[in-house]
Amino acid sequence: MKRHRNVKILATLGPSSSDEAMIEKLHVAGADVFRINMSHASHDLMRSLIRRIRSVEARSGRPIGILADLQGPKLRVGQFAEGKVELKVGQTFTLDRNLAAGDATRVFLPHPEILEAVKPGHRLLIDDGKLTLRAEKCDGDSIVATVIAGTRISDRKGVSLPDSLLTVGVLTAKDRVDLDAVLATNNVDWVALSFVQRPEDVAEVSKIAKGRVGIMSKIERPQAIERIEEIIALSDALMVARGDLGVEMPLESVPGLQKQLIRACRVAGKPVVVATQMLESMITAPVPTRAEVSDVATAVFEGADAIMLSAESASGDYPVEAVATMASIATEVERGPYYPGIIYAQRAQPEATSADAVSLAARQIAETLKLSAIVWYTSSGATGLRASRERPNVPILALSPILTTARRLAIVWGLHCVVAGDAIDLDGMVSKACRIVCDEGFAGPGDRIIISAGIPLGTPGATNMLRIAHLQ
Ligand code: PEP
Repeated sequence: MKRHRNVKILATLGPSSSDEAMIEKLHVAGADVFRINMSHASHDLMRSLIRRIRSVEARSGRPIGILADLQGPKLRVGQFAEGKVELKVGQTFTLDRNLAAGDATRVFLPHPEILEAVKPGHRLLIDDGKLTLRAEKCDGDSIVATVIAGTRISDRKGVSLPDSLLTVGVLTAKDRVDLDAVLATNNVDWVALSFVQRPEDVAEVSKIAKGRVGIMSKIERPQAIERIEEIIALSDALMVARGDLGVEMPLESVPGLQKQLIRACRVAGKPVVVATQMLESMITAPVPTRAEVSDVATAVFEGADAIMLSAESASGDYPVEAVATMASIATEVERGPYYPGIIYAQRAQPEATSADAVSLAARQIAETLKLSAIVWYTSSGATGLRASRERPNVPILALSPILTTARRLAIVWGLHCVVAGDAIDLDGMVSKACRIVCDEGFAGPGDRIIISAGIPLGTPGATNMLRIAHLQ
């Protein structure tokens, strides 16, 4: 199955898309990677979803990526005697660690870490920012706050703290148990960390994961933006998690931050995913709004590696239509006359490594000679990432003998991954590349391709060979 686009599509699974027939439809419609949201999925459900995805993968013959998204320290207030209360702007409202049911003056806050981190003057944003409180007095047991905006609060609403650096690590007790369960499956390619604040958060999870999954840092806190270069350096990928980012930072700053994060990842050669509300209206309607089409197109023009569907595919009424719509927007944008100029204007300069020098040369040769494809032999996937970083205007096939590499690279811009054993010599490698390019529908007899590899094959970091081949 050959996709006619470079950007990849990540679809979240949920009640609307949990059975195997639906997962297959989403894959056929364009989903390259599936996201399992650990905020909602039990371990049993996660394992069943993985089994179903792998059985769809076996039938399609295409490597599929699986991302498990850890809930992270999602903070919530407790419950109210009446389920909800009305507040007045200017009134005092207390968040208290020793309370049963809340009322119009106070609510239970079951998070000692918030009580420690919030200082007078800090904002507390409740229910995605619909209610804003400002802390006035904090004594470790309670926060006395003033209502600044909004008038309504109800049971278990989320709390965001844009001004406070939480002292807890990125993994909650639930995340640790979930991460163990994810790693135990040996069948998940990426883990997403929610509410990353510091590079140490990423390092902590890397130590546990030991390379068994790629680590994707979700950028949704202002504290993460402040140390973004260090966070990117330790992460394997980034997600622009616009939902919580748009609560914790002014909404109007999100488009600029999206550009900043995509550019930083493109320079680093790390995959970047744009997420949340991309086709939000398709949760209940079979067609998107003009603004949503434009939003998806913007992420494609910016050169994001992947674009993500959340509730649209997880719990919406039109999951297949949402994936198909995303795929057709991406295909149309990439086919259009403005795409090459816009995307290549931000091409990152090569670093002084043989992988980058060879990637640059392969692209220039392929574009100059109008070759049909660039074929990379990549074992760990590292050179596949550098080939994609070059953003060539020619299809890239990433051949790897390792299935988990092919699956992990499924999220990367432009890479058509194929599991293929290493050939024993150079001639075998060339003939294998030619055969695969034909079998996968990228070229036919008479066409030419360019092949890159490290000789001897299978030596990490040894990219040193380019060869133009004529297909017979
Ligand atoms: C987000 O906040 O944009 C996001 C992707 O995270 P979640 O869906 O887990 O809230």
